Amino acid sequence: MSLVKNKIILGNLLNPVSDNKAQWLPNIGLWLEKIRGKNEYKIKIIQKNSILVTEAKRLRSVELIDLSAFILTPTFCDLHFHWVQDDVREMPKDDLLYWLKNYTWPTEDNFKSINYTKKKLKSFSKKLTESGTLSGGCYSSIHSHATEMALNGFPGEIIVGNVQMTMNSPDYLIQSKSDCLSMTKTLSTKFKNRYAVTPRFAITTHPEVMNSSAKFAKKNRSFIQTHLSETKEEIQAVMDIYSNFPGFEKVKSYTEVYEKSGILGEKTIMGHGIYLSPKELSILKKTKTAIAHCPTSNAPISNKGLGSGLFDLKTINKHKIRWSLGSDIGAGPYLSMVDVMNSFVSQQKRTGLANFTSAFYRASLAGEEILQKSLSRGSFKNGKDGSFLCWKPKNLSLLKNKTAEEVLKKVFYVPNNKRDDCLSLNQGTYWKGVKLF
Ligand SMILES: [Zn+2]
Repeated sequence: MSLVKNKIILGNLLNPVSDNKAQWLPNIGLWLEKIRGKNEYKIKIIQKNSILVTEAKRLRSVELIDLSAFILTPTFCDLHFHWVQDDVREMPKDDLLYWLKNYTWPTEDNFKSINYTKKKLKSFSKKLTESGTLSGGCYSSIHSHATEMALNGFPGEIIVGNVQMTMNSPDYLIQSKSDCLSMTKTLSTKFKNRYAVTPRFAITTHPEVMNSSAKFAKKNRSFIQTHLSETKEEIQAVMDIYSNFPGFEKVKSYTEVYEKSGILGEKTIMGHGIYLSPKELSILKKTKTAIAHCPTSNAPISNKGLGSGLFDLKTINKHKIRWSLGSDIGAGPYLSMVDVMNSFVSQQKRTGLANFTSAFYRASLAGEEILQKSLSRGSFKNGKDGSFLCWKPKNLSLLKNKTAEEVLKKVFYVPNNKRDDCLSLNQGTYWKGVKLF
């Protein structure tokens, strides 16, 4: 008798494929195979529930888990969020630079205390598990311990980096260039591709710091993440600052500032990218740089966002720039990717370019493609990790003959006035076949 105990999960699968395609697979579940020596499971086969039940009866070394009343989806990927801003998500917002100075930076300063960080790590990790966000790109504070604790303590496999702040920052958060670089080198060397070199944005990080950090990232295969062209005021501030830097006098755009600082590339993720010229778009395309689009953060102030503007989806797609969705908490008010998907669909309504099929893909598989993890995560496929979320539909029997888009809408659509952080909609989170919640 084999000691390996596999799991058979009965369910109904919703599977993202692309912007235009999702699969709705009612009465179909997963056979998960245990990885020898680890408490982790991979998908062995995707099969009809009725066949899986027969197999489970035949094989005694199998645990049968009946989730046939639920709809199962892959776990979410949140490509851009700040875990150290969880407390300022619903603070009054006026504009980006004002909000940073008055609410965000004082809050991030609290993370200098190890005890405070430990407490926040516990509560925030619980929220991540409940929301089903188990991968993505996360910004920490400037503090090394807050970054390490997040890398070691978060559920799933989330990329994290300490924000670099070497200029134009408050006295209590500013770092010397050499301290910042030595922290970046240590963490990049230790955490490799789990780490992201994270200049806060061009305003707060010296170009020579970005340049040297990019070399550490390249050596250790770490990611790079920062903010780009979120508001016009921010772009003007960047151009004013950089016109005085030697070597940057002729630089014409925000994207070129980053290009000249050596941080663009296929492992680089730019948050926002709302106001980009055709030349900037071609630089992003040429360097394979990705964008994290954060609709709830860009949403009007009346919807608890910063009112930064509408993402130019048509142009971004026309230039074939890689992008996926992010919550951008705390500028974004909600941690749940369900809120982010709803905001994306409603903001793009006028353009006719988005629906729940594309939102679903951009909240899962598209993010994993950017994180170079799509061979193991982001959709259901033989050989991928057995990670998934459970959603309880009101009337499952009525959904069986519907299209994937109709089912996605039934599962994820939340009217604007009813939305207040959709954390509680998820009924169960499994990571590599193990139930976390
Ligand atoms: Zn951000």
